[in-house]
Amino acid sequence: MADNINNNDIDQNENEYEQVCMMCHRPESVAGKMIKLQKEFCVCADCMQKSLDTIDSYGPGFPGMGMPSFTMGTTPGNLNFNEVDNSSDKDGDDKTNNPYSNPMFVNLGDVFGGGGMSPRQRIKKKKKGPKEPPIDLKKIPVPHKIKAKLDEYVIGQEYAKKILSVAVYNHYKRVATNTMDEIEIEKSNILMLGPTGCGKTYLVKTLARILDVPLAIADATSLTEAGYIGDDIESVVSKLLMAAGNDVDKAECGIIFIDEIDKLARKKNTTTRDVNGEAVQQGLLKMLEGSDIEVPVGATSKNAMVPLTTVNTRNILFICGGAFPDLEEIIKSRLSKQATIGFNSELKDKYDKDKDILKKVIVDDIKQFGMIPEFVGRIPILCPLDGLTKEMLVEILKEPKNAIIKQYQKLLSIDEVDLKFEDEALEEIAAKALERATGARALRAVLEEYMLDIMYEIPKDDNIGTVTITKDYILKKGGPKVEIRTASVNG
Ligand code: ADP
Repeated sequence: MADNINNNDIDQNENEYEQVCMMCHRPESVAGKMIKLQKEFCVCADCMQKSLDTIDSYGPGFPGMGMPSFTMGTTPGNLNFNEVDNSSDKDGDDKTNNPYSNPMFVNLGDVFGGGGMSPRQRIKKKKKGPKEPPIDLKKIPVPHKIKAKLDEYVIGQEYAKKILSVAVYNHYKRVATNTMDEIEIEKSNILMLGPTGCGKTYLVKTLARILDVPLAIADATSLTEAGYIGDDIESVVSKLLMAAGNDVDKAECGIIFIDEIDKLARKKNTTTRDVNGEAVQQGLLKMLEGSDIEVPVGATSKNAMVPLTTVNTRNILFICGGAFPDLEEIIKSRLSKQATIGFNSELKDKYDKDKDILKKVIVDDIKQFGMIPEFVGRIPILCPLDGLTKEMLVEILKEPKNAIIKQYQKLLSIDEVDLKFEDEALEEIAAKALERATGARALRAVLEEYMLDIMYEIPKDDNIGTVTITKDYILKKGGPKVEIRTASVNG
């Protein structure tokens, strides 16, 4: 992500970045105008004043330190340490005999590698003047166009795609209008529910690419309450800031995807403090709603050497994702409880065979699962995904724009070999992937097993023109079908 920041760009756009005080790490938008000591080494007026006061407190008795009384002017300019040293010369110290006559305790250039602040820690200046809407609504495609784009990459998940396209479009409408009048459009964070490997992360990644907004993907399991070992909750926002090339304006309308959110569910029967479950849910509340978050720049944890900046999360779209195991049971028991009471009572096991049971999820089920009500309240849009079937897996193998078999075909076409797959072979691969129960993620692993030999053997023989992967090869009953190049090609 640091690649977004190119050294040359930075030199060219020198004025686009905020200067940051090297001592207190506040940017100039917070600490006021900076005093430039060396190239890119700046100190704010407060810290400079404190340093001078400290040095001055040694008094004239301390050799070389009898500095003339010095107070900060109202217009701090470029101050050079050598100038300060010269002023002490005027007191009559003999520079040659006195070891303290040139009190340069630290070579600032050495400390910061001569170049000042690392490029990944530079903060882009906020634009001055009246604030224009951060997003141009004309550039955001309408929902059916967003869905059509998603269709090119993601197989199935029609319901989820529809929910996402509308939710995202409405979110950016809200950002673009940026109005705070009586009808304020509320934030619409999204919760995606679906088994592992069914395309949650992939959908969000594709979405961010279509909309051309920065995206940060964080894992809820690594987050802990502030002060405990693990990533602080703010680290998700600093990841987004990094993805936006340290441009706060850009980051403020990006997307944050928090995966494995179900792992934050309240733990039952626990006596220890729940520092990475319920406490993290509590910590996320303010951020989800929209607040000013102080985040480290160019790092995911706050420490003395990292500058800080403030990011407002009001216009950041939060999408949470999780597998929510056992949620189906919770939905089933709620539905069958309703169904067995009253005149409309139905058979109890009616829902056992319902494949679309996850689509009947309501907020209460999520609460029952262990998410706290305040948290669920801030994620109003529920977006259930389907588990992948064998047919969907076959399509995932061949249909998407960057389908896995298209990738292998491209690799072999560089050796001028045509790679083909029998339809039955693809079905066998899908069946094997389904057994692993890790969704579409298993496809590559399964395919890799069979392609290894092909990729190893084929380049040995220049005469091979076409290779067809057969069902027998996948079932280990035979080999792939190999056809030799026609003579005209060889001759
Ligand atoms: P998860 O739901 O666990 O976040 P991912 O989105 O990371 O799963 O999916 C893993 C990989 O599987 C993706 O990178 C993508 O290539 C593939 N994949 C999963 N679901 C689909 C789908 N519906 N259509 C196309 N590819 C998919």
